[in-house]
Amino acid sequence: MTIKLGQKDFKVREQPPKLNPTKNGVQVLCPFCTPPHALVPGEAAVCGTTLRVTAVQAVLTSHASRFNKIKCLKCHQFGGEMVMYNTGYVHLVDCMPGTRLLTQPPKFSKSAKAVFGLPKGLRDFVEKSTGKVQQVREIDAEGTETGRILGYFFLKPGKDKKAGA
Ligand SMILES: [Zn+2]
Ligand SMILES: [Zn+2]
Repeated sequence: MTIKLGQKDFKVREQPPKLNPTKNGVQVLCPFCTPPHALVPGEAAVCGTTLRVTAVQAVLTSHASRFNKIKCLKCHQFGGEMVMYNTGYVHLVDCMPGTRLLTQPPKFSKSAKAVFGLPKGLRDFVEKSTGKVQQVREIDAEGTETGRILGYFFLKPGKDKKAGA
């Protein structure tokens, strides 16, 4: 006799995993097994346990941004759903395509600056192999450009193919 089990035959038990700090970071361990074994996101362990990793971000409601006149750092409009950026907020939707706020300082490069200074045609030619040069301008907490140029870096080649067309 073969046993046929469907989803309705199971219920789910949930428990926070055990954490084991190691030299290379924190190891996530199965909370149901003794001795515990490591869990990897997206892979079911022999005991049937899977690890669910969820990124959670608070979204400022459209009402709150309108009511409190909280302006987007990119487009300077208020109203619309926003997420935090540094000490301010930006729209959840891409309100200004082409303008990107960086969550990590890029690696500035002197050669990127040199390529940026090339005449247009030559620059296009060089950027085909290096990737497009991105100029990084400083903005203050209100989202106003200070006029200071922080540096230049190469976007990964091929990444901005559509934007260049
Ligand atoms: Zn287990
Ligand atoms: Zn915006």
